Amino acid sequence: MKFLEDMDCAFPKNLQEALKLMADEKSRGRPIAGGTDLMVQWSSGVLPMPERAIDLSGLPELKGVSENTDSVVIGAAVTHAEMRRSPIVQVHLPSLAQAAATIGGAQIQARGTIAGSVANASPAGDLGPSLLITNGRVVVASKAGEREIELAKFFLGYRKIDLQPDELIVRFILPKIHAGCRESFRKLGPRAAQAISKVMGSYRGSAKGKEVKDFAVALGSVAPIPIRLPEFEQWIVGKEIGKKVLDEAEQRVAAMIKPIDDIRSTAEYRQWVSGRIVRGFLEELVAE
Ligand SMILES: Cc1cc2nc3c(=O)[nH]c(=O)nc-3n(C[C@H](O)[C@H](O)[C@H](O)COP(=O)(O)OP(=O)(O)OC[C@H]3O[C@@H](n4cnc5c(N)ncnc54)[C@H](O)[C@@H]3O)c2cc1C
Repeated sequence: MKFLEDMDCAFPKNLQEALKLMADEKSRGRPIAGGTDLMVQWSSGVLPMPERAIDLSGLPELKGVSENTDSVVIGAAVTHAEMRRSPIVQVHLPSLAQAAATIGGAQIQARGTIAGSVANASPAGDLGPSLLITNGRVVVASKAGEREIELAKFFLGYRKIDLQPDELIVRFILPKIHAGCRESFRKLGPRAAQAISKVMGSYRGSAKGKEVKDFAVALGSVAPIPIRLPEFEQWIVGKEIGKKVLDEAEQRVAAMIKPIDDIRSTAEYRQWVSGRIVRGFLEELVAE
């Protein structure tokens, strides 16, 4: 198929209607939310245009940000603009709010969605690290019912997630940052705005004085999927942050990751920057 206007598009009004379409191979189509990835992939030929798309933008079940005692619940079709502006996300998931604010420009943030970013599963997707540090879960649904999966297990490989052809991502359940914890997001690209990341990272942690009590850290664009650094996290807990520990931390992170050279950066630069990013996170964690 050559032209967008030749493609059939279904506009289900609710999740049940959408899942019914997805359940049957004859009525199934490519789910489309903001279209910011798909439109580019179709027009550039990276992905063949499908016979049919299923527009998810009218599904009320995929919208909205809410909170319960411990977690924030974000609908699959919540946009980057909604996340960066949501007081709930800003207060309880500050790294995610910061990451959403760095994605593309205002137009992309107004259309692009959290589920679209996760399902696109690009190693350079900026939300991955901020999602992983929460130990959060994703809920997917098919006509047969819902499945809840740890986000750490949802990213399977390069552009591959644990989603069946008849399933849709419905919402994300993301544990809130605890009182006394800090978290933030850092992205390095070729320029300050409208840039695809060379490396990006997020941390969530707490400290007593200079001593690290908890530390979760995740990096993106350094592997086929966003990654946590569990060995490093274990090593740093209990350490007093000072120059010697920071130097060793920086070296350990750089040695731990195995990035690749590609058009955006070199493996060597990515290793060095990753060490610097994590060093900066540790300095921030124990800052007065
Ligand atoms: C100019 C430009 C700049 C960009 N800059 C950045 C950037 O700085 N950082 C960054 O991370 N990204 C960037 N992006 C990528 C893009 O905006 C994001 O990945 C966006 O979040 C995708 O969401 P979407 O709703 O538009 O997805 P779509 O294009 O609609 O879909 C993307 C994929 O997700 C699937 N999908 C969508 N919703 C669901 C669902 N509920 N269930 C199952 N599958 C679903 C689709 O089938 C498709 O495979 C940029 C894109 C452009 C065009």
